[in-house]
This record gives sequence, structure tokens and C-alpha cells, in this order.
Amino acid sequence: MNAPLGGLSIRIDGERLWRSLMDMAEVGATASGGCNRQALSDEDRIGRDLFCTWATEAGCEIRVDEMGNIFARRPGRDPSRAVILIGSHLDTQPTGGKFDGVYGVLSGLEVLRTLNACDAETNSPVEVVVWTNEEGARFTPAMNGSGVWAGVIDQAEAYAQRCVDGPSFREELNRIGYLGSHSASPFPIRAAFEVHIEQGPVLESEGKQIGVVTGVQGMRWYDLTVDGVPAHAGTTPMTMRRDPMQSVAQIISKISDQLEAIDSDARITFGVLHSEPMSRNTVPQRVRASVDLRHPNLATLDHMESLLRDLINDECKQRGTIATLDCIWDSPAITFDDNCVESVRAAAKRLNYRFLDIVSGAGHDSVYVSQVAPTAMIFVPCAGGLSHNEAESATADDLAAGCNVLLQAVLTIDELE
Ligand SMILES: [Zn+2]
Repeated sequence: MNAPLGGLSIRIDGERLWRSLMDMAEVGATASGGCNRQALSDEDRIGRDLFCTWATEAGCEIRVDEMGNIFARRPGRDPSRAVILIGSHLDTQPTGGKFDGVYGVLSGLEVLRTLNACDAETNSPVEVVVWTNEEGARFTPAMNGSGVWAGVIDQAEAYAQRCVDGPSFREELNRIGYLGSHSASPFPIRAAFEVHIEQGPVLESEGKQIGVVTGVQGMRWYDLTVDGVPAHAGTTPMTMRRDPMQSVAQIISKISDQLEAIDSDARITFGVLHSEPMSRNTVPQRVRASVDLRHPNLATLDHMESLLRDLINDECKQRGTIATLDCIWDSPAITFDDNCVESVRAAAKRLNYRFLDIVSGAGHDSVYVSQVAPTAMIFVPCAGGLSHNEAESATADDLAAGCNVLLQAVLTIDELE
């Protein structure tokens, strides 16, 4: 058997990777060219079965844990060594694409197939993981397969979640035959890698093939409620109103300007607006808005929140309205492992790909994995930054590039003492 010293010249088979992606895309294929393979549905079962067949053909031993997470293991020279873990998810949004998640799983499989083809033995075992329910479309919260495994989400609570059509998470896991017996908990991991389409427009617009993902930005969700005084739209002069809609409008406009001035990473989104009593000729009594605040740096995110709170206070004092801002979700910023990130960057450099350091704007299973194992991610561009969309697309060349970077990063980590 070859030691992967010569491993630096090994390349993955881009065509084989593309064929597998297209074969998997037939499972739950939609008329518009996307995929509907929601977590623990029949389509998810067929997709999982297909993966297990491929992994078994590649000589892997399969184990399934109590959350339905699938681990396909290729042994290494030293069985006592911690595992190198590669993977992502196979479930999709109801109108999802062919690449989100699937690419990360099948790239892992392609790495194993490549190692098999050149008879290369790694020092560490390499495992490909399929995390359950990353998308959160059928069962909330999202990423509960990796979340329970990492000890962040309670397993009993995850089991009890019901989907819109009735059955519980555990019942569906059992029904599709993926209620495994292994404990959903971490084991020694040397490094964990996830390749993924970027799901944003940066790599494409910068003309880069590889995103070296250094972390995931922090995200906070708030409910903003502003109360005023309902009044007649015709008889109440503008200066005598206590109109919560005016307050919210000012807040949205001013905070957007303020955050734009901080840096290009600062993001705020008011995605949902409700007014009461929802009458066109009454000044509203109450306006509720959702707020989504994001930044890669914790201190900056704190600063953004305090700017928002100050602005709300000033604005409401001036207009005679009353506001509350409740934080309902706080996902801290994640910085990936230096060693793992550097192995990705070095691989991209060595392979002569155009690369860029990037912070993920979206959540991924790697957020949870990184709490218990050294982790990094690799991004490749997707057309127009489009994702969670049936038209999601990526080129075979870029997908192969990301998979080659993955292979080289795995071999580098495997060689480290
Ligand atoms: Zn994904």
C-alpha cells in the first residue's frame, strides 16, 4: 500500500463526483429541476439507502446513531487514531437544489473512492457522515442531528418534535429504518471538514473558485414590538400622532445607515412586519417586527445591538411610543480551527486555485461539530449566489476543485504527528 507521501499528486475524479451528484438528484427530483428530499421522508430514506449502498461498495463499515446520523468508515493504518470526519447533509428544502449539503456528503465519498482507486492507506480512519435534518424544513430546529450529537440540543426534545403532517421525529426516524442504536455523541476526532456551495454571491463576483472558510458569523434574532395610540387617519394631525409605524420606519431606515457605516460584514434584516388592528384608515396601535442581526465578530455584534437599542429608545421617546426588543435566539460567532483552516488554505494554494478567505453567512452542521472537534469548511461558488432554490447550480469544475482541496486537506492532517 502507498503511504500518502505521494498523496499530494492524487486527484479526485470530477466526473464520478458529478455523476453521483446527478444520480442523487433523481431522488425527490422536482419538475423544475430541483430536489424535494425533506428530512425523514420516503425520499430521504431512498437517498440514505443509495448513500449506504455506495459507501458499502467502497468497502466502508456503516453505523447509524440514535439521531439517524450515518457514519461510513474507511479504516486507517492505526485503528487507535482519532477519526478524520468529512460530511454534510442529504436532506433538502421543499423546493431545494441539487447541491446544498449533498455536495459535502458525496465529496466525502469521492475522497474515499479516490483513496481506494490508488490503494492509499491513511494513518487515521476516515469517516463520511450524513447529518440528519440540517434544513429544519420538516422538523425544527434546523441542524438537530449534529446539534444533539454535539450535546447542544436535548435528544428527548428533538425526538418529541412533530412535523406539520403529524408524526414525531422519533416515529419518522423509526419508520424510515434509520433509528440507530449507537449513542448520538462525539468520539475522538482529529479533524472535521465540510465542503459546501457558498449559498451567497461573493466567490462568483470575486472570480474565485475556493472559499477558505475561517468561521461562521454570529446571528441574533429579536422580536421588536412598538406600541402607540390608535387614531383616526383623517382627523388626527401628523404632529399629534403617536404612530408606532412611523417609529418602526425611522428605526429601520436609521439603523440600516448606521450599520452600513460600520463595515461590509454588518447585516440587519427586518423580514416580518405586522400591524394592529390592520386597518387602512386607522393609525396602528401596535407594530411588531422581526429583526435578524449578524456579524462575524462578537464585540461588533454587541455594539450593533447597543446601537439598535439606543436608536429605539431615542426614536420612541421622541414620538411618544413604547418599544420592547426581545432576543429570542443567539447563535455565537464561530472561529474554525487554525490548523484545519490552514490545511485548506495550503491545499488551495498548492493546487493553484483562485481562493479567498471567507466567513459563512449561513449556519451549517459544522457550527455544532466545531464545538467538539477541530473543524473547517470549504466553499465553492454557486451561480448567482442562489440556494434554497430549485435553480441552484454549480459547475463541475468548481465542484471538483473543492473536492480536490478537501482530499489534500485530509491527507495533510493525516500526515501530522
Ligand atoms: Zn446545507
